[in-house]
Amino acid sequence: MDIQALSKKFGINAERKTGGRFPVFEENIRSRRVLVVCDETTRVFAQPVADMVGGNAAKCGMLVLPSPEPVADEATVRAVAEGGDGYDYLLAVGAGTLNDLCKYAGFLTHRQSGVYATAPSMDGFSSSVTPLIEKGFKITRPAQTASDILMDFDVLTKAPRIMTGAGVGDILAKYCCLTDWRISSYLTGEQVNEEAFSLMLDAVRACDNSVPALQRGEAAGVEKLMDALLISGYAMVIAGNSRPASGAEHHMSHFLEMDFLRHGERIPLHGVKVGLGTMVSLYFYKTLRSRPAFDGCERVYAEAEKLPPPEYAEGVLASLNCPTRFSELGISRDTMRNMLFEAYKIRDRFTVLTLYCSRGWMKTAADEIMEKYF
Ligand SMILES: [Zn+2]
Repeated sequence: MDIQALSKKFGINAERKTGGRFPVFEENIRSRRVLVVCDETTRVFAQPVADMVGGNAAKCGMLVLPSPEPVADEATVRAVAEGGDGYDYLLAVGAGTLNDLCKYAGFLTHRQSGVYATAPSMDGFSSSVTPLIEKGFKITRPAQTASDILMDFDVLTKAPRIMTGAGVGDILAKYCCLTDWRISSYLTGEQVNEEAFSLMLDAVRACDNSVPALQRGEAAGVEKLMDALLISGYAMVIAGNSRPASGAEHHMSHFLEMDFLRHGERIPLHGVKVGLGTMVSLYFYKTLRSRPAFDGCERVYAEAEKLPPPEYAEGVLASLNCPTRFSELGISRDTMRNMLFEAYKIRDRFTVLTLYCSRGWMKTAADEIMEKYF
């Protein structure tokens, strides 16, 4: 099933530009009053989008957030919600943050929202929750899903390489979180939703097979990446939680994010941090046999064998201009060490980190990881 047909099942119009137009979207907004929301970085894409909207909607306005890199905090959510007065549809032009802002402001004020994606950098386009910063803390809130996800592959293919790399990091991560889910079913009896599991895994493999095309900057690669990023949202809907899309590598990323927030520092791209966490998780899985045996270990080893080696993820991420050492993000040794010992406490969810920390293996494993990836 192609992504447009699959998306339709989830009530989303995921539409690629054809013949210079978005026919379904253009029809959807006929009687609507649409506010186009962008920031200083994405305003270059927003004007042609506003022209297209203006030619179809009952009314069109534009809100430019006065920052090249806005964050989804209370003040900015308020600015978007208030900017939406007189409109009934919020269209984000951007990627993670703009999409989150419009989804959440739309949810709070009972307005539909959509996104014109400018970079394939994370899997939040199709998800119904949104990460926000409230009172300096990172928190995930329920929101609405975007009604329309507009994809212009001429734009997406030209996104900064590191943003594409971040999207790939968020997808390679799924190898690990799916394995976390599977081993949890072996070791704790947690249920795996097989439909969500295989939908996600198939999309990850298709994206992974397209990495050479991505490295060459070809649209065909970016299409598979966008497919996988959207399917991640759908797999979460099917599972009823974020298990198919988030495991230890995401917990490590959240831990780091809170540390950046505490220090009032700029937060690196989600997928960049998740990519680093993915290398750590892969290393833990691939070195499991060097740790003491445990009840059920053979089945866990068998799952670990299906995973790519950490060197593979490292090579892919590096080729897409993503950092492959924690120190490259300005993270201190202490913070990274604490992350290894503490990140599993972020969610009550069994992962490879829980396995290592609960069995007391982290003490030696942390030294190995610091040596390799600091
Ligand atoms: Zn993610």
